[in-house]
Amino acid sequence: MDAVLDNAVRQFMRLPGVGRRTAQRYVYHLLRQGGEQTLALASAVEALHTKIRLCSVCCSLGESDPCGICTDSRRDASLICVVGETSEIPVIEATGRYRGRYHVLGGLLNPAAGIGPDKLTFSALLRRINPQVAEVIVALDASVEGDTTALYISRLLKPTGVRVTTLARGLPAGGSLDHADKVTIGLSLDGRVQLT
Ligand SMILES: [Zn+2]
Repeated sequence: MDAVLDNAVRQFMRLPGVGRRTAQRYVYHLLRQGGEQTLALASAVEALHTKIRLCSVCCSLGESDPCGICTDSRRDASLICVVGETSEIPVIEATGRYRGRYHVLGGLLNPAAGIGPDKLTFSALLRRINPQVAEVIVALDASVEGDTTALYISRLLKPTGVRVTTLARGLPAGGSLDHADKVTIGLSLDGRVQLT
């Protein structure tokens, strides 16, 4: 395969769930579509790099720093909901039951995969705890990594005395927050329990 085609295939293969055959299908699809669509895709991907930044408060990814949620004075600053990824914020928002702020960890603890505490935003979370914060709601996947991370957070925040709660287990075991329906997540938020 030509170097240009081969490189394009390799880049697509770096995406989750994309194998060589799928990557080749994407590449030849783009070639058939012509320049306009290919350039539109290229500039959209480039904009992810040049226009999207990390919110210096909650560590979510978006176009502004601080993000819209952190600067929204109508939101309850006494509540911080901790999620793994920015993509999980709209999932919680869709429940319509949460009006607090967020904190994005940037992943979950997974020592086997080399993801230790230094790779996630725990220290930024700790810095946000002040007397104004009444409760930290840990809303992570119902998985080994989610549970390990929740335990780490409860130990990290213990000395601060802030109340740390977690979602009630309406979430299916092994279920990711991204895939749970909003009714289930809403109920899990309502029935949250104290993490010890
Ligand atoms: Zn923010």
